[in-house]
Amino acid sequence: MTLYTSRGGNQRGSYIDGFECKGCGKKFPVGLRNACDECFHSLEVKYRTEEVREFLDRDYIRSQPGSMWRYWPLLPADPVVGADGLNPGMTPLRECRNLARMLGARRILVKDDTVNPTYSFKDRPVAVSITKIVEFGLAGSGCASTGNLAGAVAAASAKYGIPSYVLVPSSTDRGKILPALAYGANLIEVDGTYDEANRISNLIADRYRIGFVNINLRPYYVEGSKTIAMETVEQLGWALPDRVIVPMGSGALLTAVSKGLNEFAETGLIDDSAEVMISGTQPYGCSPISDAYSGTDGMIHPVERPETVAESLAIGDPASGYEALSIIRKSAGFADAPDDREIFEGQMLLARHEGVFTEPAGGCVIASLRRKLEDGTIGRDETIVCLITGNGLKSQRHLDAKSMGRTYKVGNNTEEVEKIFEKGIGGLN
Ligand SMILES: [Zn+2]
Repeated sequence: MTLYTSRGGNQRGSYIDGFECKGCGKKFPVGLRNACDECFHSLEVKYRTEEVREFLDRDYIRSQPGSMWRYWPLLPADPVVGADGLNPGMTPLRECRNLARMLGARRILVKDDTVNPTYSFKDRPVAVSITKIVEFGLAGSGCASTGNLAGAVAAASAKYGIPSYVLVPSSTDRGKILPALAYGANLIEVDGTYDEANRISNLIADRYRIGFVNINLRPYYVEGSKTIAMETVEQLGWALPDRVIVPMGSGALLTAVSKGLNEFAETGLIDDSAEVMISGTQPYGCSPISDAYSGTDGMIHPVERPETVAESLAIGDPASGYEALSIIRKSAGFADAPDDREIFEGQMLLARHEGVFTEPAGGCVIASLRRKLEDGTIGRDETIVCLITGNGLKSQRHLDAKSMGRTYKVGNNTEEVEKIFEKGIGGLN
């Protein structure tokens, strides 16, 4: 088995060629930089695709370790350093026959990132950016987070022995705060929204030589996320789904899905990435991208005070909003915004019929799947992949046992339990 080496020999930073500005196309050498100095647009990692094409094929990938690092020639990091981390990825792609039957679809699959090392997809972008903190010799790691990223940064930093500094809104669910503290994070609770925590992080990142994974390391960070799409294609037997439904906060995951598919096509691993309809969903209480999709002016109007149970999607000013919007339009996808009641129902649908307990962000995906099958936007003969990006165990504040099912309280005796069974319980009479 050839691990992390190629005919050309392993090079630090794999096959990264450089950065390219997404606005004006200006090229930059790789480094600690996240925006164009001419037009201030964000930067994108480019690879030496011709060299990668020479050895990267399906057999080569099959021979690589069972984590996201199996795609290392298309990641901007040293995979040997990366393998010292938590090695997220290769999460299950679950066939959802019950859900498909109930909703009347040909084939539904969920990419189950609730089972990553810290129970969300954020372990992927962090795995890449943390290697750059090591490489650049920065003083610590950091992030602005709605909760999941805080845990992912703290855990990965613990593994590498790096101090972590995470900024979250003070309203963040304890189910996300406590794990971050357990991993040893220096937790800074900001009395404000995510966007306000993000603004402060932007101001302090460079001053203290901290690698804020989603700020000054952002071009590297988004590269980790694209592996969720790459794995999906490989797990489908190198076939493309008709549609993928992506939860949108900043919109970065949706852009990463598109980049992952495009790079598979550029390296010849698949024929054409353009067939996949990339669709996005946001909660009704914070849906600036979806509103721009359906609105008349096509503009993204930031939401000042997000109000939704889907905390991890409560980003009022989405950094990758316009790019996500353009990908949705080009790929003939949709952008949707179900409300909190539909999101809860989506969570319950997935838990009760497929045994996957997602946080509200995943409920948002399932809610849109249902809505768009009902109104005919999604064809009944499609193969649909739903990205389920976070675990329900970390986000329980909005749940209420009474509204979720029937519970019975009894004394410490058999008779009271027998009475319940005699009345009929759970379909038993
Ligand atoms: Zn530029």
